[in-house]
Amino acid sequence: MSGDGSDIVVMKFGGTSVAGAEQIKRAAARIVAAREAGNRVVAVLSARGKTTDQLVEQAHEISDRPVAREMDMLLSTGERISCALAAMAIHDMGHEAISLTGSQAGIVTDSSHTKARIIDVRADRISEALQQDRIVLVAGFQGVSTDSRDVTTLGRGGSDTTAVALAAALRASVCEIYTDVSGVYSADPRIVADAHKLDRVSFEEMLEMSASGAGVLQLRSVEYARNHGVRIHCRSSFEDGPGTLVVSEEETMENPFVTAVTHSDSEARVTLTGLRDEPGVAGRVFGALADANVNVDVIIQNEPVGDDKLADLSFTVDRADLTTAKDTIAALGDVSLEVLTDEQIGKVSIVGAGMRSHPGVAAKVFQVLGEERINIEMISTSPIKISCVIAADRVSDAVNILHKAFDLGEDAIQPEDPTGPGHRPTVAG
Ligand code: ADP
Ligand code: ASP
Ligand code: MG
Repeated sequence: MSGDGSDIVVMKFGGTSVAGAEQIKRAAARIVAAREAGNRVVAVLSARGKTTDQLVEQAHEISDRPVAREMDMLLSTGERISCALAAMAIHDMGHEAISLTGSQAGIVTDSSHTKARIIDVRADRISEALQQDRIVLVAGFQGVSTDSRDVTTLGRGGSDTTAVALAAALRASVCEIYTDVSGVYSADPRIVADAHKLDRVSFEEMLEMSASGAGVLQLRSVEYARNHGVRIHCRSSFEDGPGTLVVSEEETMENPFVTAVTHSDSEARVTLTGLRDEPGVAGRVFGALADANVNVDVIIQNEPVGDDKLADLSFTVDRADLTTAKDTIAALGDVSLEVLTDEQIGKVSIVGAGMRSHPGVAAKVFQVLGEERINIEMISTSPIKISCVIAADRVSDAVNILHKAFDLGEDAIQPEDPTGPGHRPTVAG
């Protein structure tokens, strides 16, 4: 056993990987195998299968606007169940194991319920248990606020962030994210049949991918890993073999022009019509939304053309935040004539580090969507991402057509011209 964390591995198992008794036993066997191979093991588990969705539904059966503190008390139970059961399975395999809640594991967060941020990890209890030769199971997705002394949760998909934060605190050699696909793909493999697995992806690209809907890694987990130099290996919990490594840009052999097509169908649009065209209005609107902890994604405001000098402003938010966004705008009083909402929106994005120097990529995206008669309702770009808001029912078509147009499929060959057919990103193996 070494003094630094080089013999520690953090293994995170997602919901599908612990859904039933068989899966829990299989995850336990993988954890035990890692221990028997000479590692000290900390495993972070998610709630079983669709448990978190079911708990959210139960809350909404009781209340239209469930109190956030109680929501966290409720949601945090799912992960505890998985850990206790896995600890039992590991005991039966002849190893010592202890399950801990997020709070017991020392995950300290701010007090913003349902999307708390980790501000500290006090891992002494985990270190003690590891010293005692125990396997430690930590309930993902949760922590405790030292201000309010309440249980918090880290936002959907937050077990990834628990795992990365523990890997950073323990200086683990790797943070393995075991999930129901074999790694990070060039598009959601459930939507694009010939999507290919990326051997490596840079932090920069993975951040854009997670931010634009690739739920395979929670955005905050990627941010945390980049900021703390944690090595993430995203891989299958059902098959052996390597998955995808998330690494610094220098560690990828070259910058692919287009690495992946991502999509999101969990956003909603808010449109404020008849907004006064004067300084400070946007600041009031988005300041209030920020204070209410609502993340705004794509924003569009037009230049007023009529004599009345009234503008329209549209923006997208996570659909789960729509009620809060509407309440927040309403509380601002007479900021606009009308507030309209649309829940039937989708978003498709392409991500690639090589886009920085290739403006032709954006034009090609718009042309391809146009040829497919897919109307682009909003556009936003970053140096390595282009996102288009489109109708929700065209998302799957858009992802497939863009994946094909940039030739990201399994058997594609790489041409010279990134905007021409046949380009395929290659990364170091
Ligand atoms: P877990 O429960 O293991 O955390 P998630 O459902 O959160 O699993 O994430 C895995 C899912 O992410 C996959 O089943 C897949 O449908 C989806 N996904 C979306 N985009 C991608 C992508 N680019 N590569 C891999 N998986 C993706
Ligand atoms: N169980 C939580 C969710 O479904 C957290 C996670 O799985 O990472 O979002
Ligand atoms: Mg997940």
